Amino acid sequence: MEKIQKIRGAHQIDPNDSQTWSKLTREITEIFESFSYQEIRLPIIENTNLFQRSVGEGSDIVNKEMFTFESKSGKSLTLRPEGTAGCLRASIEMGLTDQGPIRLFYHGPMYRYERPQKGRNREFYQLSVEAYGFDSINLDLEMIFMSHKIFNFLKLKDYSLEINSLGSKETQNNFSKAFKEYLRPIKDQLDPDSQIRIDSNTLRILDSKNSETQRILKNGPKISEFMDQKSIKDFDLLKSNLDEMKIPYKVNQNLVRGLDYYNDVVYEWKSEALGSQNTFCAGGRYDSLSKNLGGRDVSAAGFSIGLDRLIISLPNHERVKPKKRLIVIILENSLFQAGLKIAETIRNNIEELVVRFDGSKSNLKSQLKKAIKENYDFALILGNEEIKKGVFSFKNLKKDDNQLSLTESEVIKSVSEVIDNE
Ligand code: ATP
Ligand code: MG
Repeated sequence: MEKIQKIRGAHQIDPNDSQTWSKLTREITEIFESFSYQEIRLPIIENTNLFQRSVGEGSDIVNKEMFTFESKSGKSLTLRPEGTAGCLRASIEMGLTDQGPIRLFYHGPMYRYERPQKGRNREFYQLSVEAYGFDSINLDLEMIFMSHKIFNFLKLKDYSLEINSLGSKETQNNFSKAFKEYLRPIKDQLDPDSQIRIDSNTLRILDSKNSETQRILKNGPKISEFMDQKSIKDFDLLKSNLDEMKIPYKVNQNLVRGLDYYNDVVYEWKSEALGSQNTFCAGGRYDSLSKNLGGRDVSAAGFSIGLDRLIISLPNHERVKPKKRLIVIILENSLFQAGLKIAETIRNNIEELVVRFDGSKSNLKSQLKKAIKENYDFALILGNEEIKKGVFSFKNLKKDDNQLSLTESEVIKSVSEVIDNE
């Protein structure tokens, strides 16, 4: 029969790589927790209008990337393309934004209908933080400092930070108006995507990768020319604090995010290991989103790490190495209990070891051959002879050594020595 295949761009990790994913998730969330962020668990399915009202009708995400379907009762539902909107929706609903400032984190799959390529999948993982009720730039700084700490801890190489300020929503509106006026007469010279964006998502034109469009933008208006005193002061404070903290950054005046809800500080962490999909973490402030979702006026900021891209950026030696593996083989069915016992003793004595015991006797030669093929490091063989003498036959499968007769404690010592010398 024809084999059924996975859906294009879906997330599927084989058992050798899954440990790296788990370890990264654990290490990053532990750092979030150490900064007093608390985990919130959120649904993967949301009402479609949540994203229309937050991410924005003009955004690529809402325009063309959502997995949207109709429920049995005719409601329009969407697999979350990002977590910020759902997290704030949930926090308003649970009353969390009424209780004073709060820091949250979550992680899990996100869904976007995009063309799959290196670092771009239709089902991908994000690890994100959001904080509500902090209106000072100190929070933006904390978030940048924390993400920097994480990437240092993970020994990431060749990565950099780009920052920008989008100013207030009023600034963005004034800038958009002037920007449109500048672009309309020369519309034909823009790339096709940017031509469409003049009316639907003006800011996003700044982010165009087209060199001719970029050349045209050089002489156009800049957001910074429209910024009010508060935004200017905050951005200056951010920059001087980053200097003080010795966190290198570059100001990129064309950095806008693809989502409508941002204001003031936005940033992206980029890695050279990634090629064209080079942003592996992105964030910023979104003070107006709560009101847009029917909540009270609460300032908010957050960032998301794209785990798929972070893993590609990770140096090879930082990936989790598989543990050493030992197999216990019995030569008689009657030795089942003895096999179980020694397997458990070894497990309890050597943490960094995988111990397998299948429990049924079979031909020794073929068992050893199979164990070598399956990349086992050690075999422990238990027969009536061994039981009588109170020893085990021990074989290091990665060496051509002879079989040794060892006591329980000698087995533990030998295996531990190999693991310690790695
Ligand atoms: P891009 O410009 O690469 O499409 P984006 O601006 O759409 O990214 P965000 O919505 O800011 O991305 O999401 C935050 C992070 O999530 C990104 O920096 C990236 O690491 C990750 N991410 C976004 N889309 C994908 C995807 N399709 N596949 C894998 N990771 C993704
Ligand atoms: Mg995108």
